[in-house]
Amino acid sequence: MAGGKKPVVLVVGMAGSGKTTFMQRLQADLTVSGERVPYLVNLDPAVLDTPYESNLDIRDTVDYKQVMAQYGLGPNGAILTALNLFTTKWDQVLDLIDTRQEEMDICLVDTPGQIEIFTWSASGTIIAETCASMFPTCIAYILDLERCAQSPIAFMSNMLYACSIMYKMRLPFILVMNKSDIADAGPVTEWLGDYFAFQTALTDMQSESYLSSMMQSMGLVLEEFYQNIRHVVVSSYTGDGMDDFLTKVDEAVEEYEKEFLPDLERRIQLKSNAAATPVEDQLSNLSIDKSD
Ligand code: GDP
Ligand code: MG
Repeated sequence: MAGGKKPVVLVVGMAGSGKTTFMQRLQADLTVSGERVPYLVNLDPAVLDTPYESNLDIRDTVDYKQVMAQYGLGPNGAILTALNLFTTKWDQVLDLIDTRQEEMDICLVDTPGQIEIFTWSASGTIIAETCASMFPTCIAYILDLERCAQSPIAFMSNMLYACSIMYKMRLPFILVMNKSDIADAGPVTEWLGDYFAFQTALTDMQSESYLSSMMQSMGLVLEEFYQNIRHVVVSSYTGDGMDDFLTKVDEAVEEYEKEFLPDLERRIQLKSNAAATPVEDQLSNLSIDKSD
């Protein structure tokens, strides 16, 4: 299985959080330092131009505008369908990543701008699970520090999303707080480590009473999540924090080997015992998605 293989980092996050810029920065820094050789995969079919040089690009296989015309879909349905169509070839992508192991040290995967297209679609789950069954895989959740630092409520909404993805994907998780060049990471990192600081920030907002008390209860629920979460503050513009990020990837790989791999193997075993629908049937069911 994944023993001795190079890590794969699935870069996810809200639209505009900076996933693509983060990929670009890592590629640029790693190329200059020569510390690790990156291998970049773009899974966003709708991006006009990637600012980094990708090794593999979904756009070389599927044209989402053509998908839109062919199936009469809107932009979101076409992006999702393009991802679904690409997923039918994902085994070939994994084989390719496998054959390139000697030439790379880390594989970075950029995902569609709209987060739910990857995190709440069947194809996103298939991509993450199959990837994790072959390589030490982790999630880098990019958080827009500027948006979160402005309000504890924006921070909380983003963290609820991060939490749901972590539980859905069940992979080692790195919270990447991006845009530290334009936002002060201080309050947000304080809220992560200190529930009372978060509560004070909420009180200072003097928001509607029922909302405020609900937020405080949710904050308490998330406290446990915060305590276990690995986080790093970065700027994809200046490159600050990128070394820390790579250290967190190494920690995530250790966690993958100790905790996630045994659990994953158990789940794969359970699935194969259930001998459900053949994979070909599952893939043909998801190749056209009418949701928009
Ligand atoms: P994506 O939708 O998550 O891929 O986000 P992009 O990488 O396209 O970035 C969205 C916007 O945020 C762009 O205007 C970027 O230039 C900007 N951006 C990304 N990272 C940073 C950062 O570290 N600092 C600042 N100031 N802006 C950033
Ligand atoms: Mg992007």
